[in-house]
Amino acid sequence: MKDDTSTRKVSVAEWQKNLIKQSEIDPYLENGKDFIDEEAIETALERGKQASPEQIREIIKKAYDIKLMSAEDTAALVNVTDPALKEEVFKAAREIKTKVYDNRVVTFAPLYCGSKCVNSCKYCGFRCENNSIDRRVLSMDEIEAEARVLAAKIGHKRLVVVYGEHPDTDAEYIAESMKRIYSIKEKVRGGVGEIRRVNVNAAPLPIEGLKKLHEAGIGTYQVFQETYHKKTYESVHPVQTLKGNYRWRLYALHRAMDAGIDDVAVGALFGLAPWRFEIMGLVAHARDLEKRFGLGPHTVSVPRLEPAADTDFSWVQNWVSDEDFRYLIACIRLAIPYAGLIVTNREKPEMIRSVIKMCTQRDADTRVGIGAYVEAFSAHDQREETQQFILGDTRSLDEIIRELASMGHIVSFCTAGYRCGRTGKKIMDALESGREGCFCKLNAVLTFQEWLEDFATPETKKIGDEIIDKEMKEIKARVPADFSEALWEHLVKAREKILSGERDLYF
Ligand code: SAM
Ligand code: SF4
Repeated sequence: MKDDTSTRKVSVAEWQKNLIKQSEIDPYLENGKDFIDEEAIETALERGKQASPEQIREIIKKAYDIKLMSAEDTAALVNVTDPALKEEVFKAAREIKTKVYDNRVVTFAPLYCGSKCVNSCKYCGFRCENNSIDRRVLSMDEIEAEARVLAAKIGHKRLVVVYGEHPDTDAEYIAESMKRIYSIKEKVRGGVGEIRRVNVNAAPLPIEGLKKLHEAGIGTYQVFQETYHKKTYESVHPVQTLKGNYRWRLYALHRAMDAGIDDVAVGALFGLAPWRFEIMGLVAHARDLEKRFGLGPHTVSVPRLEPAADTDFSWVQNWVSDEDFRYLIACIRLAIPYAGLIVTNREKPEMIRSVIKMCTQRDADTRVGIGAYVEAFSAHDQREETQQFILGDTRSLDEIIRELASMGHIVSFCTAGYRCGRTGKKIMDALESGREGCFCKLNAVLTFQEWLEDFATPETKKIGDEIIDKEMKEIKARVPADFSEALWEHLVKAREKILSGERDLYF
């Protein structure tokens, strides 16, 4: 463990020189080629423009089978321009989300552990030559303090921990920080504040490092490709930097699978290359993961470029309009229908409201500065000089839950899947067949009730309890078709136990 970063054994230069292993890229190539065939993508996109409304309707219909979409169909879908036909795509996207994930939304918070970074991503406030950023790597005690605010004051159960790429935040540090976060247990009202799932968003790691994260109990490993378009990739990630190696990043999740992490997440940073190309890239990525490991990504993230401190964006040529952003989310919902879809507080509340019915996760009470949660509890400000980018929504978890409940969503704090070994292929099969929904529905009730008891304001508790009563009625109406009588009785008892102070009950 490194509380004192001056104890680092190797120089930054040496560490960088030895990190990338060509032997952990080559086995994934086919005839020396990676799975992004730019020419084929461009040709498919051109051809996709010719699709008739009837063909689009056929594509929409097939998406209800909850299978990864073909490249050809995806290319046609992303090229729809007729507003009425687009409405049909939006409708299907909302229905498919409900079919697979019901009315549930999962909330989480990012926890930024370090802003030191050896890379020079043109769009990121943390790029190494940006002198206006206060560089910091949190000590384990500081990480614990941040996580205590998130777990005990706000009530989060799920975090995504985020790191720059630097030897001071290497795989060992990441694993150590996860263990420290899992160790927190703090008494709150009737129960306990604790983080039950730690997801990681970090730079690509070698297999040896990924094994350390697996052992530390990683939830999902997220690596966003940023852009699948190689020329664009090279123009924003200088080639002499670690991140400049396109293929090292492209196969980060393949290595994770080989290291035993069967829960991985893809994403593209929208605004770099044309968004239609990126969707083709995301689908190709999912297909290669399916082909090699029998399962695709657990979630897809759709970060859109945001301003960052002292960062020039005059070079950006592919800003995504709000209208296109909404439509690209609908396309991903149909194209990778089994995957969760994450929209973040980079977006403004109005935007999130307008897409949430197609998505499964959003963050809440978010801060992206280093040490910002401890600070935010005295002043609810964003401080540009500590952040990677500027947020669009910093509302509290309580407010967000109230808003989601008023829109008919139940917020699930369920982390049972990963803790009961329902991950990877098992969860994918269950999602495709709609079976996972049954467990999730029950666990959403129990975990939401727990949160309402321990953290909600009276106003939120009232609307939350109404949602739970509605869910209970729905579940009861599905006995015995979907839930056995015994399961129903078990649920009723578990809810009573939570109301009288027991915690962490799940199916
Ligand atoms: N440093 C690691 C890496 O690059 O893989 C960890 C992730 S980085 C801290 C988290 C993500 O934030 C990046 O993958 C990128 O997609 C996104 N990001 C960076 N700069 C951004 C900006 N200006 N606006 C929106 N998202 C940004
Ligand atoms: Fe570093 Fe990640 Fe920012 Fe690039 S996106 S500069 S790798 S923190």
